[in-house]
Formats: sequence, structure tokens, C-alpha cells
Amino acid sequence: MSTLEQNVKKLYRHLDRFQSNGVLNRIAGQDRAGSLGVFENSSPVDRSTICQVARGNTDDIDAAATAAADAFVDWRDMAAKERQSILIRIAEAIEARAEEIALCECWDTGQALKFMSKAALRGAENFRYFADQVVQARDGQHLKSPTLMNITTRVPIGPVGVITPWNTPFMLSTWKIAPALAAGCTVIHKPAEASPLTARLLVEIAEEAGLPKGVLNTVNGYGEEVGKALCEHPKIRAIAFVGESRTGSLVTKQGADTLKRNHLELGGKNPVIVFEDADLDRALDAVIFMIYSINGERCTSSSRLLVQETIREEFEAKLIERVNNIRVGHPLDPETEVGPLISEEHFNKVTSYFEVAKQDGAKIAAGGEVLGDKGYFVRPTLFTNATNQMRIAREEIFGPVLTSISFSTEEEALQLANDTPYGLTGYLWTNDLTRALRFTDGLEAGMIWVNSENVRHLPTPFGGVKASGIGRDGGDWSFEFYMEQKHIGFATGQHRITRLGV
Ligand code: NAD
Repeated sequence: MSTLEQNVKKLYRHLDRFQSNGVLNRIAGQDRAGSLGVFENSSPVDRSTICQVARGNTDDIDAAATAAADAFVDWRDMAAKERQSILIRIAEAIEARAEEIALCECWDTGQALKFMSKAALRGAENFRYFADQVVQARDGQHLKSPTLMNITTRVPIGPVGVITPWNTPFMLSTWKIAPALAAGCTVIHKPAEASPLTARLLVEIAEEAGLPKGVLNTVNGYGEEVGKALCEHPKIRAIAFVGESRTGSLVTKQGADTLKRNHLELGGKNPVIVFEDADLDRALDAVIFMIYSINGERCTSSSRLLVQETIREEFEAKLIERVNNIRVGHPLDPETEVGPLISEEHFNKVTSYFEVAKQDGAKIAAGGEVLGDKGYFVRPTLFTNATNQMRIAREEIFGPVLTSISFSTEEEALQLANDTPYGLTGYLWTNDLTRALRFTDGLEAGMIWVNSENVRHLPTPFGGVKASGIGRDGGDWSFEFYMEQKHIGFATGQHRITRLGV
């Protein structure tokens, strides 16, 4: 039996329970059907039905918000060491079930196992990393004044909502939920409607690892029904949102009446800039990895290649050869590098840019075709002869599609790189140190890598500028979002109090 066949067999063993019971909401440690019935979840691999999913509404959010509010004080006040050991047990349980998580994620989202097996383990790493910091998360400062001993302390903000998208959903959810729990918040998780499976696994794993009932609640459903209700709920103190920029704007509006604190991680149209003096072989590997891995459905993908005119022809020729070699196939085949796109709607969006590119005068140098007729497969695509004004250079396509644009001078490269509504990441390839310092100083992006692909280091700040978001995750930045600073001043003597009405 081939490895693919073995993986498919294992997958079906794990899917059995979803096919029989569907994906229910989990509120206060109980399964709950959706108030609006169910919606259907299908696989992008062959469009087959995976399962029915609970379709929630404001009533389900209200029940979950009550559960999260009821569970808050005990969770907040639990001894830090005890909370820490629960988070570590969750990490261990994720590791123990990493294969099941990865297989379900691949079938649900179309992502290749090659990348998803690591993504499941990164979820465990997120729990371990924030568990390590539980004890000191509430530490503060001592700011002595002439008459007062001032101290600061940090306290968890309260029940929070976490709204996640369908791209690498397990890893992304843990990136939000782990620090929220470590801070002492309780959580309502609203997973993307297209990828509900691993969110269900996460809440089960967490409860089995000892997380008290109601500390993590999962409510499935559509954004405008469940996500909106979560943003509007008065018991929810903050929303950590990951998704499209225009949804981020809705999240802000919906939270206005209840004065929500929002953290928005949004879209990108990230540039990778390759100068003639760079290590071009490494640059080529990184350019390819950062747009064609994870199906290009990645917020930090480098979807705009800015390449110096002097090396453009040679660089693009090598790129075309490699892009044409990328293995598109069944996500559970260990050899597969690119799987199918998440949904019919997204497939239609991505493939519509093939025509847009032609109409705008760009050249389809590789790909630009769909593959097969069962699932949502497209060939990895490269557009050349493009300008930064074309739609293929301005809009987030969110698929395995790269737009190549040439530049002559450093000034022009910087101007092109910054001429975008977005500002999530930037990637710079040059061996000129002074240029790297100058260029990164001028580049409008929340995260920049020089002579490297995106390599995450959990203590560093993660987030974007401009339309790519507001706020940062990572290290202590995560705790800043999920916690409130509190100042307490103690009089150290009998300082003079101004007397009125004497
Ligand atoms: P999306 O905005 O359509 O959906 C994201 C989530 O928001 C889903 O759970 C959805 O149901 C919910 N939602 C939809 N309408 C809502 C509303 N009115 N109120 C509250 N919630 C609502 O995004 P998507 O298509 O699922 O994901 C892809 C997008 O996510 C891309 O733009 C990508 O760049 C972005 N993304 C950003 C980051 C980052 O860290 N910056 C990471 C991953 C993905």
C-alpha cells in the first residue's frame, strides 16, 4: 500500500466520528446543536461532503458568553502554576494527536501534509511557549514618587472572542487561544465556516487535558451570524481577529457600541525585493517557498516579486523552470507540494485573475490553468511583464500565484514596495549591508526578513501596518492585548491633601 493510501485509510478512521455526529458547538463543556440547524462542510480535494456543522446565531453566542463569563473568575484566580500545567498538558495532548490533527486539516482545507504536519506541532509549541510565561505575565513595576509607592500589575481583560480564518486554522487558532488562556482570559472561538474540524479537536483536547468547563467554548457558523454576534456581545471584552482587511473593518464597526478592544491581523500583498548583488540561488529558493508553499494561502506570502532589471531575465527563467516542476496533487501524498484551494468560491476568485492578468497586458509565464475537474486544483502560476498598477499587483489573490515586476534603482524598488494599501511583511535580498539598513528603515511593513524566508521566532512581534492590521502578537505583546495594566498608588506618609470647603 502506498503512503498516500495508508494516509487516506488513517484519515477515514478519524473522520468517522465527524461523519456520524457532525461538528457540534461546545459551550460550557457540553455539546450543543446550532440554533439555526446545520450547514454542510465539504472537502476541496474532491468536493465530497465531510460532515454537517452546527450553524449558530446570537443565542449560541449568548450562551457561550455566559459560560465564558461564569468561568472567568475561577480561571483568572487559579494558581499560576496550576494554569501553567494545564497548558503544558494541552501541548502534550496536541503532540500525541498531531497526526490526526494534520490529516483532518489537510482534508478540510486542501493543505499539503508536507506542511500541515509541522503546523500541528507548531500549535503545541504555541501552548508551551505561553505556558512558560504564565507565572510572570502579571508582574508589574514599582514607580516610586515623593509621596507614593506606585505599583503596576497586569490583570486579564475578561472573556474574549477569537475569530479565525481557514488558512492553517489549527496553528493560527492556538496562536491566539494559548496566550489568551495563559493570561487568564476565557475564550469563545469562532472558527472559519470552511474549516471546522480541527477547532473541534482543539476544544476536546483542551478539556481532556483538564481545562475547566466554559474556559474555552467553540461556536460554529457564518461570519455575519456568529462572528457579528460575538463582536457585539457586551460580556466579551476584546476580539482577536484574523482574516481579510474588509472583514477587519466590519469587526471594528460591530464592536464600537460595546467599546471592544480589537486586535486585527489582516491581508497582505507582500513584496520580495531581489537586488543583483544578492545570493541569487538562495533568493530563488525563498521566493518560491514564500508563495507556493501552503498553497499560497498565507497572509505573509511574498506575492509581489520586485526583481532588478539587470538580472530579471535570468532569474525569471530559473523561476519558470522551478514553478513548472512544483508537484500539485492529493494533500495526503507526502510528495505533494501544492494541494487544492479551499473552496469553490476561492477557486473562482483565484482563477479569475488569469483573465485579469491577460487583459491588463501581463504575461502568464507559468501555470494559469486549472487541473482536473474533481477538486479545486490550480497550477502554480507566475505572471511576468507586470506593473505595480495592475490588479494582479495590488489585490490579495491568496493562492499559488506570483506577480513579477522589474525595477532599476534602489529608490524605485522602495517606491514600488511601499506603493500598496497593505504592510504585513517584506523580504529583502541583497549583500550590501548599508543598503539593507537603509531599505528596511524605509520599508512600510510590520515584519521584514533580510536574506531569509519567513522564519518565526515566537518572542518577536507579529503583525502588520496600514491595511494589514492593528496590534501585535508574540512574546509579551500578546499579553499586552489580553491583559489590562492597573496602577495602584500607596501613600507612604501624610502628604498634604488640598482641602476644599474648609
Ligand atoms: P474572512 O475575513 O472572510 O473570514 C475570517 C473569519 O471572519 C471567519 O471566521 C469568518 O466567518 C469571520 N467573519 C466573516 N464576516 C464576519 C463579520 N461580519 N463579523 C465577524 N466575523 C466575521 O477571511 P478568510 O477568507 O477566512 O481568510 C483569509 C484572509 O485572512 C486573507 O485576507 C489573509 O491574508 C488573512 N490572514 C491574515 C493573517 C495575519 O496574520 N495577518 C493570517 C492569516 C490570514
